[in-house]
Amino acid sequence: MAVEYKEVPKPVKAAEWYLPGIFTGLGITLKNLVRNLLNKDQMLTLNYPEEKYEYSPRFKGTHILTTRKDGSVRCTACMLCATNCPANCITIVASEHQDPTVEKYPIVYEIDMLRCVFCGFCEEACPVDAIRMGPEWQVPGKNGSNFIWGIQDLAYRPQLKGGVQSVCDDSERHIAGI
Ligand code: SF4
Ligand code: SF4
Repeated sequence: MAVEYKEVPKPVKAAEWYLPGIFTGLGITLKNLVRNLLNKDQMLTLNYPEEKYEYSPRFKGTHILTTRKDGSVRCTACMLCATNCPANCITIVASEHQDPTVEKYPIVYEIDMLRCVFCGFCEEACPVDAIRMGPEWQVPGKNGSNFIWGIQDLAYRPQLKGGVQSVCDDSERHIAGI
């Protein structure tokens, strides 16, 4: 079947001038500026970082490695989180623990925050409440900063105020046989 082509009409003379378009755009910007200054409460944007959006309590932000009662990391280096991570961004190096009731613990636990897709699979996979995704979402850093968070960042960064204690207690787990 023959394709029918239509000639594109030439632009009208006024549209060849770019100044009317620029002034129309500036007018819209000025109108929105005045409207926002007079109705700050109805602005759709926030003055970040002074104002921050309140996310749902179920929000899955940056990771937290929880701690035991004695302050050590709760993780038993079982590798379930690393195995389930779709972005392959968790690195764990396990070591034997001095306490015979604790099989292993991580001497290295790292998450590459720039590769993480914040899916929450690591939190879901963990059998002992050792990793959670907290309410923070900012991962700021300058060009060349280290975005590979280690145990110090994940468990003891200043925002966590000494660490988040796990609800899963080893002695209770052993009594329950899990
Ligand atoms: S949130 Fe998802 S992508 Fe990020 S470390 Fe956990 S499992 Fe990996
Ligand atoms: S965070 Fe949980 S799932 Fe990951 S290695 Fe530690 S104990 Fe296992």
